[in-house]
Amino acid sequence: MINGITDCTTLNNGLKMPWLGFGVFQITDGNEVVSSVKEALSVGYRSIDTAAVYNNETGVGKAIKESGIAREDIFLTTKVWNSEQRKSRTLPAFEESLERLQTDYVDLYLIHWPVDGFYIETWKAMEEIYKSGRAKSIGVSNFMDYHLDDLLPNCEVVPAVNQIEYHPYLVMSDLYDYCNSRDIRIEAWSPLMQGHIINVEPLQKLAEKYGKTPAQITLRWNIQKGVVTIPKSVQPQRILENAQIFDFEISFADMKVIDALDSGKRFGPDPNNFNF
Ligand code: NDP
Repeated sequence: MINGITDCTTLNNGLKMPWLGFGVFQITDGNEVVSSVKEALSVGYRSIDTAAVYNNETGVGKAIKESGIAREDIFLTTKVWNSEQRKSRTLPAFEESLERLQTDYVDLYLIHWPVDGFYIETWKAMEEIYKSGRAKSIGVSNFMDYHLDDLLPNCEVVPAVNQIEYHPYLVMSDLYDYCNSRDIRIEAWSPLMQGHIINVEPLQKLAEKYGKTPAQITLRWNIQKGVVTIPKSVQPQRILENAQIFDFEISFADMKVIDALDSGKRFGPDPNNFNF
């Protein structure tokens, strides 16, 4: 039973990662990201998910510093962008992320997308970073099972996390089983279907039944499935709402109702076919 905002999953290398984190994609660097991250930290989130390509690592670092919360009490994730995926480029890109984040380590460093022809050599650089202690864990994002089939035989360090688009319309049970059977934790991006969950009737009905909102139902469904979740909001009342998911439990039957919404629909780019 997961019953608190600081409850953690244990990753395959023993590192603890909060089930709930705060995503900052599309939050502008400067005041907007600083105030959103500080708001999230003040209501109890202890995990922040950014990426070099979000162009807001500087603000994330500033918010963490200004929050007064000890760095070691925050789980910080960032990602290497596609153009930096070469052994020679990943190491300097990582240094630049650390500098912007004003920290000397991250808790999780991810390969943002499986760029064909480059992700294996990038993983070698990630392993080097991991061994240096400056990333407490390393993982991947947007990897399908065939990307992992290709990567895993070349790994000294098995990815701790696969961060993928994951929500009631996109359950990908094969990939879910694949990752779970190899102890690779799934982390949901766009868990709220970029806001579209509020219009899904079965979620509205469950929200009424549990006295919660569709967002809370969806996020609770994530963590009950053993999926780490990182909703984004710039609105203080929603930042709080999205964190109030630890005082109820969705029944087994209702979990199945949500699972059944799966239609394979994506709101973001498809890892099977992307060109950036
Ligand atoms: P989300 O599914 O978290 O949805 C965010 C949207 O939903 C925003 O428009 C937000 O609006 C709205 N929203 C937030 N809370 C609520 C609520 N309680 N009720 C109704 N609407 C709400 O989308 P994201 O794409 O941002 O995904 C989350 C995080 O995942 C990102 O921030 C990023 O960290 C990560 N990510 C990773 C990717 C990858 O390739 N690895 C790709 C995409 C995202 P408002 O802000 O106005 O509240």
